[in-house]
Amino acid sequence: MTTATQDSEKVQETVAVDSAAPTNFIRNIIDEDLRSGKHRTIVTRFPPEPNGYLHIGHAKSICLNFGLARDYAGRCHLRLDDTNPTKEDVEFSETIKDSVRWLGFDWGEHLYHASDYFGQLYQWAEELIKKGKAYVDDQTADQIRETRGTLTEAGTESPFRNRTSEENLDLFQRMRAGEFPDGSRVLRAKIDMASPNMNLRDPVMYRILHSTHPHTGDDWCIYPMYDYAHGQSDSIEGITHSICTLEFQDHRPLYDWFLEALGIYAPRQYEFARLNLTYTVMSKRKLLELVRDRYVSGWDDPRMPTLVGMQRRGYTPASIRNFCERIGVGKNDSWIEMGILEDCVREDLNEKAPRAMAVIDPLRVVIENYPEDARDEFEALNHPNEPAMGTRTVPFSREIFIERDDFLEDPPKGFFRLAPGREVRLRYAYIVKCTGVVKDEASGEILEVRCSYDPDSRGGSAADGRKIKGTIHWVSADHSVAAEVRLYDRLFTVPQPGSDKEGPDWKTFLNADSLKTLSGCRLEPSLLEAKPGDSFQFERQGYFIADSVDSKPDAPVFSRIVTLRDSWSKK
Ligand code: ATP
Ligand code: MG
Repeated sequence: MTTATQDSEKVQETVAVDSAAPTNFIRNIIDEDLRSGKHRTIVTRFPPEPNGYLHIGHAKSICLNFGLARDYAGRCHLRLDDTNPTKEDVEFSETIKDSVRWLGFDWGEHLYHASDYFGQLYQWAEELIKKGKAYVDDQTADQIRETRGTLTEAGTESPFRNRTSEENLDLFQRMRAGEFPDGSRVLRAKIDMASPNMNLRDPVMYRILHSTHPHTGDDWCIYPMYDYAHGQSDSIEGITHSICTLEFQDHRPLYDWFLEALGIYAPRQYEFARLNLTYTVMSKRKLLELVRDRYVSGWDDPRMPTLVGMQRRGYTPASIRNFCERIGVGKNDSWIEMGILEDCVREDLNEKAPRAMAVIDPLRVVIENYPEDARDEFEALNHPNEPAMGTRTVPFSREIFIERDDFLEDPPKGFFRLAPGREVRLRYAYIVKCTGVVKDEASGEILEVRCSYDPDSRGGSAADGRKIKGTIHWVSADHSVAAEVRLYDRLFTVPQPGSDKEGPDWKTFLNADSLKTLSGCRLEPSLLEAKPGDSFQFERQGYFIADSVDSKPDAPVFSRIVTLRDSWSKK
C-alpha cells in the first residue's frame, strides 16, 4: 500500500514532444555522479506492487530504469514490492515478470521481493525503538487520521507517544508474536507532529495484519508500510538512484529520515513525471473497474493500456520502447497524445509486417469474360521494400470479392475506384471494367458487380499504355477464407477521460464504437498459415494481428492493431 495520491490525473495541456530526447535530467545526475566518483556502478530498480497488471505508464518506468542500467553498464533489479499481503497475488507477480521480459529487459539474477527483507526491517524497527525514534500507538486508525492535523494546522501528539523504549519494545515484540488483533496497535516513527510535511507527522511503520503472505506464509502478522520498507530495501540492494514518480517527492524527506536514523547506506531518490496518455485511463482502480464491470473482456482486452492488452493488440516491444524514448523523461506533469504511441507501432510494423490482402466488407464481382474453370496465380511480394521477406502466391478466378466501398454506382468527383463503365486495377492481377450491377429488387442493395477483364493487362498495366488511376485489393471468391475481423478503436471518446475537466463519471466517455466485430470477411488463402500473434498489413486497411486467444486454424480471427493513418487527428 502506498500513501501517495495515485489518482492524480490532473488536467493539463497536452504537450508536443520533440522527437529526439538524447538525454534527460536523471542522466545528467548520473553523469555527474560518475564523474565525481560518487558511484562507479549504477544500480536502479523497478519496484512494482504485485497487485495488478503493468500498463504503459509502468513501461515508461521500466524503460527508464532498465535503460539506464543498460546504457551505463550497471544493473537494474526487479523488486516485487509485496508488503501488503491482502492485495497481492502470485498470478500478478508472474504476469509482471512476463511483461518486463516481453518488453525486452532482463534482471538477470536480481529478482527480489520486499518480503525478503522482513527480518532485517523488523530488526531495524527494534533499533529505532531502542533509539527512542519509534513507538507503539494504541490509537485506532481513525484516531490517528483525525489527529494528523491539516496543511495549515499541526497534528496532535498521541497519548502513547512518550512510552519508554522498554515498553515500546515489549509491545512491538508482542505485536509480532500475534498477541493483538488487527488494527489494535501500530508502530509509528517518532518525528514531528507539527512538521509542515504531513508525511513526517509520525508516520505509521508497521500494522497488524493476520493474513497469509504469498511469499512468507504465516511467518508474519505485522507488515511494514511502503514508506518504511522502500528506502531500506533500496539500501539493502545498494541502489544508487532510486527513481520514482513525482507524487513521492513529499515522501523524500521521510525516505531520507529512516536511512539517516538507522545510519545505513543512503541511496538518493529522484522523481520524474508519470506518463499520462490521452484517450485512456491508467489508474489501477479504474482499470479494475473496467474489467470487473465487463466494459472490456479482461486485463488483456486489446483496448486496455495494460502490457498484456497491448501485446494482444499487436503492439511490439520495440514500438513501446521507442515510444518511451520519444516522450523522454522530465519533471513536469503532462499529457502525451495517444497518436504518438500509435505512430510508433505503425512505424515498426511498416518495416516488419508482411503484406496481405483481406476484404473486410465483401462485395462479389463476376468477371464475365473470364472462363469458369480458369485459374491464374500471381506472385506477390510480402513486403514492397524487403525482397528478403519473400513472395507468396495469390490465386485469381472468375469470381472475386472487393471491398463494398470500393464500388459506387454514382461516384462523386475524385473517386478513382470501381463504378459503372469505369476501369480499375486489381492489385497484382488485371485491369477490370464494370459492365453492370445486380441489385436486390426490393431493397436496392447491390448484390453483385459484373465486370470484364483485359487479358492483356496481366500484372496490372495496360498493353496500350492507357493510364489507370485506381488500384484496389481483392480476394478470389473460391480460394479465400472466411474470417472474423475485429476493428478496435480508442477506448474513450475524449482525450482526458479520467480528469475532472471531463466531469465526474469517466465511464460516460467510453467509446461505444471501440470494438466492431465483423463476420464473413474474406482473407487471401496465404493467411491460413498465420499463427496466433502474427501481424500483417492488410493492404489499404491497416495492421492486423491473428488474435492470440480466439483465432483458430479453421476459424481465423484478426484484430486491427492500428489504421494505416491517424484517423483521429482530423476529428
Ligand atoms: P499503486 O501504487 O496504486 O498500486 P502504481 O501505478 O504506483 O499503483 P506500482 O506497482 O506501485 O503501481 O508502480 C511501480 C512503479 O511504476 C513505480 O515506481 C511507479 O512510480 C511506476 N509507475 C506507475 N505508474 C506510472 C506512470 N503512469 N508513469 C510512469 N511510471 C509509473
Ligand atoms: Mg505505487
